[in-house]
Amino acid sequence: MIPILDLKEQYHSLRPQMLRAIEDVLEGGAFINGPNVKALEGEVAAYAGAGHGVALNSGTDALHLALRALDIGPGDEVITTPFTFVATTEAIGIVGATPVFVDIDPATFNMDPELLEAAITPRTRAILPVHLYGHPAPMDRIMEIARKHKLYVIEDCAQAIGATFDGRFVGTIGDFGAFSFFPSKNLGAYGDGGMLLTNDPALADRARSLRGHGGRVKYYHEELGVNSRLDELQAAVLRVKLPHLESWIANRRAVAQRYNEALSAAGFAVPQDPANGRHVYHQYTLRVENRERVQEELRAAGVQTMVYYPVPLHMQKVHAMLNQGEGSFPHSERAAREVISIPMFPELAPDVQDRVIEAVLKVCRHEAVA
Ligand SMILES: *Cc1c(COP(=O)(O)O)cnc(C)c1O
Repeated sequence: MIPILDLKEQYHSLRPQMLRAIEDVLEGGAFINGPNVKALEGEVAAYAGAGHGVALNSGTDALHLALRALDIGPGDEVITTPFTFVATTEAIGIVGATPVFVDIDPATFNMDPELLEAAITPRTRAILPVHLYGHPAPMDRIMEIARKHKLYVIEDCAQAIGATFDGRFVGTIGDFGAFSFFPSKNLGAYGDGGMLLTNDPALADRARSLRGHGGRVKYYHEELGVNSRLDELQAAVLRVKLPHLESWIANRRAVAQRYNEALSAAGFAVPQDPANGRHVYHQYTLRVENRERVQEELRAAGVQTMVYYPVPLHMQKVHAMLNQGEGSFPHSERAAREVISIPMFPELAPDVQDRVIEAVLKVCRHEAVA
């Protein structure tokens, strides 16, 4: 079976440095708030061109603490898309605010900025675009609308580290960029992890205080915080990986280009760079009719596929109280029925890519949605 993601090959290519880095942490005896976390914050910030990095224990907490740091809470509304992972709206709910959805642009799966202004109310405090699958959202329009209405922007970059828009890295354009180091993300730890990037030193300071029990000085607590620290072992793992991220992105883009050539010729709408941005292909996602049959036949042909995500968030039980049932966001609902992601990772060899292409063409060329 050709897996959708294989992390073993990457580990084997880094094994000596990885084991040395882990051993160094174990020998050093500092497991929390140690030198690797601090260094990683600086290195990720420098990579993306951000002023500050605040390492956290997950991407979910990065979103949650960004909202807290901006004092967004009960009575406030945050505009986002229903076609994303649940963590996006979970973070909004956790601080007591209300998610307000706008539909996606069916060509990119990202928030359609032309729908934003109609969704803004006097309670709106922030826009939360998601760079889904690694495709940068249209940050020019989003920032323009946010400035006009004095709204904060929190970018969900969990799937998009390294993606760019108008020459800037995603996560450095809005007030905060929230990143995930979940193992399967483009820069993955060997456990949970996340980070906030921001150019505002006061916001970085507030997020840092919130992550460590709401205080800046040990045992002095100014506000209700959480324990959301990244640990030294994960920071050490990520520091071994970060220098390779650009070459992994280049490999993902080469895989995507090979897929695109073969599959666009067969009538598929293929994921592409926006005119002024860089897609990092966290996922390579197509649309098909009769998805269940297609998935089954691809499995029989030895190709693993996944569906991200089968139920749009406005139709999830957790958000039933928003009273937005089926029919509210037709592009998101249609995407949820049609999307299928095929194997995509930097180590996917050309002959294996060709086997994936061959299977896709054989199984679903008549199911292609253009
Ligand atoms: C993975 C992911 C998150 C959450 O990150 P975790 O590190 O798993 O908490 C948030 N948003 C999106 C779009 C994601 O893909």
